[in-house]
Amino acid sequence: MLNPMERLIMKFGGTSVGSAERILMVAELVKRFAAPETVVVTSAMSGVTDRLVEIAEKVARGIEEEQIHDFIQYMREKHLGVAGEVAGREEVEELEAEIERLLSELEKILVGISYVGELTPRSLDYVLSFGERLAAPLLSAALRRRGINSRWYTGYEAGIVTDSTFGRASPIMDITEERVLQVIEPRLRDTVPVVTGFIAGDEKGRITTLGRGGSDYTAAILGSVLEADEIWIWTDVDGILTTDPKLVKEARVIKVLSYIEAMELAYFGAKVLHPKTIEPAMEKGIPVRVRNTFNPDCEGTLIVSEQEKSSDIVKAISVMKNVALLNISGVGMIGLPGVASRVFTALAQQKVNILMISQGSSEANISIVVERADVERAVGALQEEFLGANIVKDVQYNEDVAIIAVVGAGMRGTRGVAARVFTAVANAGVNVLMIAQGSSEVNISFVVADEDAAKAARALHREFITKEPGT
Ligand code: ADP
Ligand code: ASP
Ligand code: MG
Repeated sequence: MLNPMERLIMKFGGTSVGSAERILMVAELVKRFAAPETVVVTSAMSGVTDRLVEIAEKVARGIEEEQIHDFIQYMREKHLGVAGEVAGREEVEELEAEIERLLSELEKILVGISYVGELTPRSLDYVLSFGERLAAPLLSAALRRRGINSRWYTGYEAGIVTDSTFGRASPIMDITEERVLQVIEPRLRDTVPVVTGFIAGDEKGRITTLGRGGSDYTAAILGSVLEADEIWIWTDVDGILTTDPKLVKEARVIKVLSYIEAMELAYFGAKVLHPKTIEPAMEKGIPVRVRNTFNPDCEGTLIVSEQEKSSDIVKAISVMKNVALLNISGVGMIGLPGVASRVFTALAQQKVNILMISQGSSEANISIVVERADVERAVGALQEEFLGANIVKDVQYNEDVAIIAVVGAGMRGTRGVAARVFTAVANAGVNVLMIAQGSSEVNISFVVADEDAAKAARALHREFITKEPGT
């Protein structure tokens, strides 16, 4: 198939580059689908980032140096084993040496953390960077072996410069644009650069990460700066599905989604796309495609700005776990202006991300949903802001909850959708703890107990998707 595009970004996820066989398969896909100018973005090999988080945390708590050696040995087996299989014979030795250099750097930083006994977000980002930094040389070598001229870059080397919010960094777009156009663009005519997803660097050159799952975002940043024709996210499912296939087995592929719908889904937990992926693509009107590395003949999901003319009211249901529900209450809040804005400010100062907020009509109560990892900081910030002033009586929280989001542009202006949503959920015997409807009307989201999440998703899928098969 001839690719009519001029410039294409292709990102491959962890499972796609999970073994030597898969990396060679990916190289075939690049060969088959490449445009005249193509950039490849890679994640770490599957499971590696999780293992890096685990070891970094253990090391900071204090473990024997021998356990660090064991971990390095695991990483060596995982990556060196692959090197011999993916690289051309003349390159294997050099590739192995490169991997050994990276492993010894990783070992040094882990030993360093064990001495200090403290894991800062900055040192964690440094440790996590090794996942992608070890995967990229392997994929680049596989491309060369398939006759494609290639070399690899870290996200920072490629030109992506972020702020210094380690663990959740945001790109500084003007600097990034200037650098990417300087470093990557001139090389596109004769090479296919392989860029590490997820990791970048701040203005001082210190390694940062874009947040878990951030390789998708890397692809979108590069696609936007390079004004690519399309951005393709290659993953391990056929596209964006009507819900997480791990929860509901009837889930099926959605052919076309609008940017807003995809954004809402990703924001509310559809792990297949990092939530920030859509924004840079949408700004430049670049289509994003989600495709399956293991089923490349399937066209996947196309995400574009135009709303598909479809009869579907609800396109998909997402479930977001690892969240917590906070409840702020007190009669002192009644009639007092600006309480909600003080909540926002206090939480923003602590860098807590608010996922949902709702205020009861009595005004004596505000509910907020935040990421579970932020609970302590959030409660601390709210207590400091309000308790002393006798406005709030109590700040309670519940960590065993999940957000369910029902998403579809067809809900806009369609009456009775909310009633159908909550009837379906109630009939499934699920209790709703909090509700919020975004002003976009493209989504209705609500909070349920963690243990009810899958049941609620299944009931909604049955009500809106299985019952009304779309086009
Ligand atoms: P990758 O390593 O390729 O980035 P991820 O694990 O980050 O892959 O994302 C793909 C996974 O997202 C799928 O295997 C699936 O379990 C999960 N997922 C959750 N919600 C959805 C959805 N609505 N559509 C497709 N996949 C989903
Ligand atoms: N490897 C990183 C992670 O597991 C980034 C990614 O996969 O997109 O979070
Ligand atoms: Mg991912």
